[in-house]
Amino acid sequence: MTRRVPVLDLGVSTAALRPELDAAIARVLESGAFINGPDVAAFERELAAYLGVAECVGLNSGTDALVLGLRAFGIGPGDEVIVPTFSFFATAEAVSAVGARPVFADIDARTFNLDPASVAAQLGAATRAIIPVHLYGQSAAMDELLELAARHGLHVLEDAAQALGGAYRGRKLGSLGHAAAISFFPSKNLGAFGDGGVLATNQKPLAELCRELRQHGGKDKYRNERIGYNSRLDTLQAAILRVKLPHLDQAVRARRAAAARYEELLGDLKHVQLPWQDPNASHAFHQYTLRVPADRRDQVQADLAARGIQTMVYYPTPIHRLPVYRAQYSRVTLPVAEAAAGAVLSLPLWPEISRSDQEYVAQALRDLF
Ligand SMILES: *Cc1c(COP(=O)(O)O)cnc(C)c1O
Repeated sequence: MTRRVPVLDLGVSTAALRPELDAAIARVLESGAFINGPDVAAFERELAAYLGVAECVGLNSGTDALVLGLRAFGIGPGDEVIVPTFSFFATAEAVSAVGARPVFADIDARTFNLDPASVAAQLGAATRAIIPVHLYGQSAAMDELLELAARHGLHVLEDAAQALGGAYRGRKLGSLGHAAAISFFPSKNLGAFGDGGVLATNQKPLAELCRELRQHGGKDKYRNERIGYNSRLDTLQAAILRVKLPHLDQAVRARRAAAARYEELLGDLKHVQLPWQDPNASHAFHQYTLRVPADRRDQVQADLAARGIQTMVYYPTPIHRLPVYRAQYSRVTLPVAEAAAGAVLSLPLWPEISRSDQEYVAQALRDLF
């Protein structure tokens, strides 16, 4: 019988916390406060303390955290926002959703994150903001990007959806920009049992505006002052996240240990580029992503699958080449991102992955290379 190694297994950590989770869920059921219950504000305070920011605003997804963050910055039609083309679609989708225009920049081949030189080349009169993505849990080049933004008076909205638990120069990812979007999609480093997100910021007025936007654009329920959204974090999800947050650092340490084990097992392989780690940062290892020769990537993925090993391609298509954007951006070429999309492969990784699972994955790769 073939062994099976999934790309992610959430069952172990859920089982370990089950009594605490059950108690938290029961408490919400008994209170009946499903919307804006006390767990929401408590979780916002606890996550803000964890990140070292003044405010967290609970929202219904990481995508909405991007959308509401842009709206709170006052970004809309006529404005341009620079985003990496190598990310999950939501990074650009949020820009389009507020009526602004995403301007795609290329990435660094080693980090897979925004290349500050490419960002600088895309700056124009209409540029209002930059969204650096900390892809796979690895910090973007924040020193350069913050400096560029300061010089040109731009907002910086971190897309930290994959990066909770990571750090840059000793500060948590999600606390470095003017605001940050964090996602609690179940597979993320801090996963809810459904959708959820947070907008984190040190700017109190920005947080206040997001609190209005998440609730139909008014401080007061029936005194709507602007067009907003229905985008609250469910009390149930907040209660669940409060149970999980104290275990986040331990889970990220376990991810980093598993990454170190892969490095030990695969470090000498030719033709395979392992994740690069910025010495000034602490990688949150949401994903452990290899670069393999592009002409072999799909075959390698199929060969691993035949041995019961599930892998993922994040992301197979740069955003400017997706059906929704490709006509509009047909003249854009971003060669580093386009090459990366054909060559990346993410290996199984979760905090409790066993050494023997990792050895099995590594042996399979060694047989192929
Ligand atoms: C997951 C993710 C999002 C969106 O978060 P949701 O909570 O699923 O809406 C945005 N950007 C990146 C890079 C992501 O990985």
